[in-house]
Amino acid sequence: MTFYIGRNNDNDLKLASPSVSGEHARISISDDYQSYVLEDLDSTNGTYINGQPVAKKELSKKDKIILGKEEIQSEKLFKELKSFIHNKRTDFSEEFSTLQMLERSFQKDKDKANKFFKIKSAALRLAVTVGIMLIVGQFTPREYRIYLMGGIGLIGTVISTLSMSEGRLRNKIEDLTVEFMSSFSCPKCEMELAGKSWKYWKSKKNCPKCKCTWVKEN
Ligand SMILES: [Zn+2]
Repeated sequence: MTFYIGRNNDNDLKLASPSVSGEHARISISDDYQSYVLEDLDSTNGTYINGQPVAKKELSKKDKIILGKEEIQSEKLFKELKSFIHNKRTDFSEEFSTLQMLERSFQKDKDKANKFFKIKSAALRLAVTVGIMLIVGQFTPREYRIYLMGGIGLIGTVISTLSMSEGRLRNKIEDLTVEFMSSFSCPKCEMELAGKSWKYWKSKKNCPKCKCTWVKEN
């Protein structure tokens, strides 16, 4: 992938300054999108990185880049490059495959919460049982009643602790769901995918909206 910079309209980054040539420089982007090599295209006023004139040099995020007399903020340039790559790229199969893990961990968290609710209802049933025992306890021998009372106190504590964390857990599940819905989306166009399973989308192979590749054909 190549990114062009200059004064002409057909550049990927257009600079209006008269000191910048029509086709001033280009940036070659490596196949893994990790390295960017800036190359001057025989411009009239030259290209400078950190004060040094350059013909060709790999860019780093802290470089001070000047084309002609125009300084380009490297932060802004790297942002431009990122969105350029995002728009040009069609293969998002790697990112798409990570969505499966996302779906799995969301399911796991939800199952964990449901398990908690089951434990809670079991505890409530136990409390009711103890309550009944208390009534029946009127008829149990005096020496056993002390254990019964202690047991009731303990159950009460357990239940109030459980109901407190139930509220927190409900909030947590809500947060998890919101987070899942926003991240379970097409890696390119961010179309929401949460309505259907990862497996379903996998069978489509491409995004129906932006047409990017989710699953590579063998
Ligand atoms: Zn898409």
